[in-house]
Amino acid sequence: KVQTRGLATGIIKSPLGPCPKIPNENLVEYIYKNVDEFIEEPAATCAVSGRSYTHGMLRMLVNKCSQALLGHCGLKPRDVIGLLLPNIPEFLIICHGAMEAGLTVTFVNPLYTPDEIRRQFENAGVKMIVTVPILLEVATTIGPLLPKYNSTICIGGEDDPANNVHGLMSLLTAGYESELPGISPRELALLPYSSGTTGLPKGVMLSHHNLVSNLVQGDHPALMDKLTKDGKRQTIFTVLPFFHIFGFNGIMNLSLRDGQHLITIPRFTPEDYIKTLIEYRPSFLFVVPSLLLFLATHPAVTKKHLASIEGVQSGAAPLTEGLLQKFREKIGRTDIIIRQGYGMTESSPVTFCMPKLTPPSKIGTIGIPYPGTESKIISLTSGEVQGTHKSGELLVRGPQIMMGYLNNEEATAETIDEDGWLHTGDVAYYDEDAYFYIVDRCKELIKVKGNQVSPTELENLILGLDGIADAAVVGIPDTLAGEVPRAFIVKRKDSDITEEDITKYVNLKVTHYKRLAGGVKFVESIPRNPSGKILRNELKIQNC
Ligand code: AMP
Repeated sequence: KVQTRGLATGIIKSPLGPCPKIPNENLVEYIYKNVDEFIEEPAATCAVSGRSYTHGMLRMLVNKCSQALLGHCGLKPRDVIGLLLPNIPEFLIICHGAMEAGLTVTFVNPLYTPDEIRRQFENAGVKMIVTVPILLEVATTIGPLLPKYNSTICIGGEDDPANNVHGLMSLLTAGYESELPGISPRELALLPYSSGTTGLPKGVMLSHHNLVSNLVQGDHPALMDKLTKDGKRQTIFTVLPFFHIFGFNGIMNLSLRDGQHLITIPRFTPEDYIKTLIEYRPSFLFVVPSLLLFLATHPAVTKKHLASIEGVQSGAAPLTEGLLQKFREKIGRTDIIIRQGYGMTESSPVTFCMPKLTPPSKIGTIGIPYPGTESKIISLTSGEVQGTHKSGELLVRGPQIMMGYLNNEEATAETIDEDGWLHTGDVAYYDEDAYFYIVDRCKELIKVKGNQVSPTELENLILGLDGIADAAVVGIPDTLAGEVPRAFIVKRKDSDITEEDITKYVNLKVTHYKRLAGGVKFVESIPRNPSGKILRNELKIQNC
């Protein structure tokens, strides 16, 4: 039974207790610390190609990679390396290799349009791009447009000095040597992008300490089982992107640290997903709700395909009880643990998780605060701290909270207050056992299948079109995706611009999940408050 703490003061400490001491190690030292215990065991496998690495091989290649980056590629500690990669096992080699060399890593969705990639990489100050042959042309076209660019690494490609391209294999096999720097755990390790509570996507500065803290916090016996019921290491299957913080720290780093076998596929297709379930018989799945919906409802997924599953962890978007019920019916067993967690890019990412023994009565909960995480709920109107069962904005504090937004003190100060509380922009309440429940969002963010969409980004795009006087984008509910973006447009008087003109234009400029799948609505005016802020809720209520 967990002890609830802080209910009387309104500051809820984790019922799982404080965080164990965070080791004074960088992420790579921490993750691979116990590698000798499972050196021969499989670590990462691509289920489509069959390419697989043991934990021992990975550790060795990470080290070779870091030496080559410093000794041959002209990089130095604190340079930024931009990953333009799908989920492949080599993601781990390059990412941890870069971090061991003291570089900062940023990553993008490889399905972004060239313009979206360039914007992020330029903002992050990327010096080197890492990609795969199919995206090499995009990388070498964007690269020279970046002020700090020096070269590209192609995984599965050859050296091409004329175009400043290194093949990964030649880097790893050439025997380059370099002295590795001492890295302070407080240094910047990762720069994922998030729009936070408002505005455009911003670089979220996560230190080695932030990332390690979140892994240490998750290492609690009340949370995930490290071994299966047969006493074997978990076989974890995920298609959640390594280029999102959930896939990166919550899945990839965690499973490596624990010596698990991580199976992935570079692109989700129902056929490949089901084939992987059959061939690898995973014991644990990481999902987002839209993927769970696929498992629960797709006729080609059967109970037999899911027979090996002992646990499922969902995150990144709200999981409804109806969907959970559907999944339980499909799987037809009660001996499976299905848990929901909650987090944000800004918190490395996890701040809440359901313990294994969550009572069934806690329907829809995101669980209790992670070890060493404090939380409170404040009134949306007065800012006062709320007691049990009272909704308000959720605030969190702990060692996993970001250092701040890159080159953006204003946005940092708006998000992390003077006392170190991260304002999540989510509306929640908690009960008498310190279980939390998300009920709404008071920030602008739209989440499509767990992916972030910044309304400001789409509005700025639309406002660039001729014939548009004003625009606002909001998320509207969607059974399959959770939410989809819908645009509200005020036309200029003389304009005959159509819905089709706008959707065609936007859809060409952004990646698939940011498209205006919720359609376009023409309105007389966009409701705004006196300081010009769009009243998005009003738009939602009036028009959706
Ligand atoms: P990201 O930074 O992309 O991980 O997005 C973080 C946001 O996703 C949160 O602020 C929430 O709005 C949403 N989110 C994450 N997990 C959950 C969850 N379990 N339930 C509801 N919303 C969630």
